Amino acid sequence: MGVIQQLPEDVVRKIAAGEVIVRPANAVKELIENSLDAGATEITVTIKEGGMTLLQVKDNGTGIYKDDLPLVCERFATSKLRSIDDLSRMTTFGFRGEALASIAMVSSLNVTSKRRDAPCAYQIAYKNGAMTGRIRPSAGGDGTTITVDGLFEASESRRAALKNHAEESARVIDIVAKYAVHRPDVSFIVMRDERGCDLRSLGTGKREDVLGVLYGDELCKEALVLRLNDPTLHFEMEGIMASPYSIHSAEAKDSKRKRNKQFVLFINNRPVSCAVLKSSTEQTLASKGLATTYLMMALMIDPSRVDVNVHPTKDCVFFLQQDDVTERIQEYLDAVLEADINKYRPKLPS
Ligand code: ADP
Ligand code: MG
Repeated sequence: MGVIQQLPEDVVRKIAAGEVIVRPANAVKELIENSLDAGATEITVTIKEGGMTLLQVKDNGTGIYKDDLPLVCERFATSKLRSIDDLSRMTTFGFRGEALASIAMVSSLNVTSKRRDAPCAYQIAYKNGAMTGRIRPSAGGDGTTITVDGLFEASESRRAALKNHAEESARVIDIVAKYAVHRPDVSFIVMRDERGCDLRSLGTGKREDVLGVLYGDELCKEALVLRLNDPTLHFEMEGIMASPYSIHSAEAKDSKRKRNKQFVLFINNRPVSCAVLKSSTEQTLASKGLATTYLMMALMIDPSRVDVNVHPTKDCVFFLQQDDVTERIQEYLDAVLEADINKYRPKLPS
């Protein structure tokens, strides 16, 4: 007799949800992406106890149709993808229709949303994946607020694994900060444990401004705004580098700087990691005796050359001619640094 059994549907759903939403920061990322997909220009994230007791994302985006509310937390229910042909043309973050379903599966979730043309806001509540009650009119301005109470409330072991609330808060703030730099046109706010504002970008459209607000003017006073367009390799790059400093300077020995070093990469609007690109840019800087505390690059690559169908939890992206693109960026950074090298040179010991 065989031993293989098909898992019951509800077990399958729980497992799938657990793959996408592992910790509060994953939920925040998904919710922020939905807000950006909805064209929001203001996104406020509120968390309590690292997002474990409360996690809320409020936006001023398009809002959700009342009739769509019962579908938002259904698996594979999306307004963004209609057919397989759309897949290679997706410009939104989401398209799988899995995020809200996954979060709702492991929490109590409330959606309150108002479209600009609707007479009032409507809300709907879910608990462990099922709708509780019906759609109700509600107070609320234009846009959408998703409130998640008691994330992983049904999973003692998951809660125990995430009991370091300071660490979870830090991860949430970190992910919001990434998006804030990526989207300087959008104002991001993080409120934590009723202590007021932990992060606030103003949405001025200038990356330098965001970097200044997030990391202090000191790091940003000679920030380099990066821009490269390479039609032959089918990509564009935008980014920002905090003021480079000589590896022989006092800054280089500052342990806080060392600890806070960040390399942030977005490919086609998704935060991803790419070890090759990271080490090659570090090499470029090092070859000039320089280092930097913060470097963010956002690459836009012809979607047909990128594998978009990576799993949401896998952040490593593959694209064609990766080596050539990396080399081109290296060349560009080299030229940018060379043009400005005298600014940093006086800091080099003679
Ligand atoms: P996906 O983003 O992959 O479509 P989600 O589960 O994240 O799937 O969201 C399901 C649907 O709910 C979206 O397709 C969208 O229509 C709607 N939605 C979710 N969040 C928002 C929001 N903040 N504003 C407007 N619509 C939203
Ligand atoms: Mg989504």
